[in-house]
Amino acid sequence: MKIYQKVKQSNTLRWFFLGCGILAVVALTGMNVYSLYALRESTIEAAKENRKIQLEEYTNKIVYRFREPFRGMRDLEMRDLEESWNNSQNFPHHFRKVLLNTISDSLFSDIYFSHEEHNGCHKPEHPLYHFDKQSAYFRVANDIPKEVCDGIGISKSRMNTVSLDEYRWNNKVVFDAHRSMTLALINLEQKTIIGHVTLLIDRNYLINNILEPELLTKFGKTEESGMVVWLRDWMQDEVLISSNPAYQFSRDKIDMRQRFPDLLDNWVLNASFLESPVVAATQASLNRNLVVLGFAVFVLFGALVFMFINAQREREFALRQAGFLANVTHELKTPLAVMQAAGENISDGRVTDGERLKSYGSHIYDEAIRLRKMIDKLLDVAKVDSGQTMVNQAPVNLDKYLSGYYEGHKEYVNNRGFTLKLDQLPASPLIMADTNHLETILNNLIENSIKYSHDEKYIKMSLFVDNSDVSFTISDRGIGIPKKAQKLIFNKFYRVENADTAKTKGHGLGLAIVKNLVEINGGKISLNSEPGKGTTFKVTFPALLKQTTAMKETALKTSRLKSQQLEEESYAG
Ligand code: ADP
Repeated sequence: MKIYQKVKQSNTLRWFFLGCGILAVVALTGMNVYSLYALRESTIEAAKENRKIQLEEYTNKIVYRFREPFRGMRDLEMRDLEESWNNSQNFPHHFRKVLLNTISDSLFSDIYFSHEEHNGCHKPEHPLYHFDKQSAYFRVANDIPKEVCDGIGISKSRMNTVSLDEYRWNNKVVFDAHRSMTLALINLEQKTIIGHVTLLIDRNYLINNILEPELLTKFGKTEESGMVVWLRDWMQDEVLISSNPAYQFSRDKIDMRQRFPDLLDNWVLNASFLESPVVAATQASLNRNLVVLGFAVFVLFGALVFMFINAQREREFALRQAGFLANVTHELKTPLAVMQAAGENISDGRVTDGERLKSYGSHIYDEAIRLRKMIDKLLDVAKVDSGQTMVNQAPVNLDKYLSGYYEGHKEYVNNRGFTLKLDQLPASPLIMADTNHLETILNNLIENSIKYSHDEKYIKMSLFVDNSDVSFTISDRGIGIPKKAQKLIFNKFYRVENADTAKTKGHGLGLAIVKNLVEINGGKISLNSEPGKGTTFKVTFPALLKQTTAMKETALKTSRLKSQQLEEESYAG
């Protein structure tokens, strides 16, 4: 009882630990996969952020380039500028120097000035001034380009929206797309606007000498920057420049857009991200990690399940062994008790009558035979376990051997109320086998057919020959073996758990011995069984030599005929 309890307890523990193990593996795997993906995501995010910064750096550099000529502008005293203009229609020397410096930059083609009070564009009687590079003076302009009026107009209307009370700088820069840049000059003390200086932008120079070289420097090496950048005029739907002409612009490919803050309104940078080396490396490492992880999990699961199944098997084995011990003790004691009682009666001289003496003697004889059989079986198992089974192989003619076996055993089988039928046997090629083993195999199979049959007391022996194998079958019309048990019946101590088996005596050793003997003689055993209809065990050995053609043909014919008969007869009941 104790052993059963222990086994049961350890079984619960085993299930518990298996559950914990699986849970731990799943949790660890989940965590690992999650962190691997999180790492990849953060790398992608960082790469994206980095590209965004690169785009911003580019636009900032361009903005800086526009403002460069006006560095120091904020420190100028606007009152001086205003006074100078009112007195001489020109600006003081230091401001003209700034303008001279500006016009020497090819980015700007011309400079114009319009007084705030006047509007030379709309009122022809009011002059508009053009900066003369040679003399560094403003002179009344004759031809006023449309862009200048547009620029002044935009600057004026923008200044209408600016509250000068709160404004802190002495100028405000306003762009008319890529055409002009206008500075509104502001007198902060009197909160007035002096006028508007408009600088016309040289579009070609801007594109070819500033935007494009800078774009190529920053993003031209696509494999390093990990992106292709196009400058597009969205109003004209036109690509102006590209960091890598090998890549065709396509709206679907755009991953990020970047405008120039407060300037070049119509122009937008479009960036398409290629796989950056860092992201590619992270992806490759993620894949590698996933493969290794998958393999590790597979091995771990495999090991867990293997260990569990093994433990389960050992548990069943322990249980069966415990049952076997209890059984064997009982089985050994019964014949011994009978023999002891009979012997005692005889030796005491209590039984003197001849008939009774004979009956006591036959009792002792039968029990001794039963005891011997059981001990033989136990010894067989012990030999199998210790690998000491002796094999004395010799060439055997199975057809002859089976006929001989049939003749020798049919009476015994008939006496048990069974019909033993031997099919017409084909001439079979020789096999190598130990005839003692063949006898044990047949004995066990036939004994089982007897034990596990009810009303249909019928056993049939057949022989089949195919190209290189010789097989014999033992079929019965007994209780059959359930599908689930069929895999297990060759295990030591295994018995099918049902009422029929419980009624018969046995220890689940016969088939284990049979299988072992078949295998050490180079053969294999299989079965075909249907509960309630019967069972056929098939033992197959390799033929020793190739058959002659004639033998083959007869054998094949008989085999086919037999298969048909077997199917018809075996389950006829
Ligand atoms: P035992 O007969 O001593 O129990 P075996 O190893 O010979 O042990 O058989 C194992 C089990 O297989 C049996 O307990 C029985 O349930 C089943 N079995 C074997 N042969 C047959 C058969 N011919 N028909 C039905 N069941 C069988």
